[in-house]
Amino acid sequence: NAKKSPTADVCYYKSWMKDKEKNHFSLARSIIKGLEKEEFISVYQPIFSVSTGKLMGFEALARWQHPDKKVLGPGDFIPLMEEQGLISKLTEQMLSQSLTRLSSWQEKQPDLFMSINLSAQDIQKPTFLSHLRYLIAHHRLIPDRVILEITESLLLSDWQQASNVLNALKEIGVRLALDDFGTGYSSLSYLQRINAAKLKIDRSFIQQSTQTGDSRLLQSIVQLGKTMNMSVIAEGVEQVQELNFLRIIGCDQYQGFLKAKPMLAEEVERDLWI
Ligand code: C2E
Ligand code: MG
Ligand code: MG
Ligand code: MG
Repeated sequence: NAKKSPTADVCYYKSWMKDKEKNHFSLARSIIKGLEKEEFISVYQPIFSVSTGKLMGFEALARWQHPDKKVLGPGDFIPLMEEQGLISKLTEQMLSQSLTRLSSWQEKQPDLFMSINLSAQDIQKPTFLSHLRYLIAHHRLIPDRVILEITESLLLSDWQQASNVLNALKEIGVRLALDDFGTGYSSLSYLQRINAAKLKIDRSFIQQSTQTGDSRLLQSIVQLGKTMNMSVIAEGVEQVQELNFLRIIGCDQYQGFLKAKPMLAEEVERDLWI
């Protein structure tokens, strides 16, 4: 209908750009609204002992229960939250929800731990440590039952600052887990610099070992963790053969769809302690 002009294509392209920007902007806005309305919830993936099968603890994983969308996973909102400086608000809510659950679930099993994922911005936020201290005191938790999962990228931005916060965390008495181990660039040097209690082997190493039948790398990572006196956790265990192999090589704990997917708190309470 519109009259064709030499710039028609350009105009079309420009308005398409604006639409994209608008969507990006409106997603950020609905994230902010969602955070205010507490639409972000934690689900909990159980972590088990490899040798005995005993439930040891949970990893808290974020989901967005948007009123008119299906439930969204971290891939749909974490990158934008990090980009927009919104992630530490999410972490506060995740900590608050998951440590409330931990304190209640410890009445049924006192030795449980709760593991929470951190982003770089979390440790840069001045109120992070005080909020954590408050929650631990409020719920009367034993600090070493609280595990904070960190990745290399969290340490890369500002090593001195990160190292100060990690020392403060050690003083509080919470423990650290190195998440997605082996997928970054400087894993080995930071393994030595950070005195973490747990090493989480990325799912890709479990998959690769199963698919290629070559398990030398997986075995070496487990050995490395044990040598560093860490508790080694395998992520993404989907097959019984994988679990059997982890038992043979002495991996300590595992999480994976083989035994349990991330669950709603209500499902944990209904299914895990009858
Ligand atoms: P992650 O910390 O490595 O968490 C493990 C991921 O592996 C989870 O994905 C979990 O659902 C998935 N997983 C566990 N077992 C299996 C399995 O057997 N097979 C397969 N295919 N997947 C399995 P999810 O929940 O989608 O989370 C993805 C990532 O998003 C997490 O990886 C973590 O890096 C990040 N994330 C999740 N929640 C938070 C959060 O509250 N804060 C921050 N900063 N990051 C989060
Ligand atoms: Mg994790
Ligand atoms: Mg991760
Ligand atoms: Mg991981």
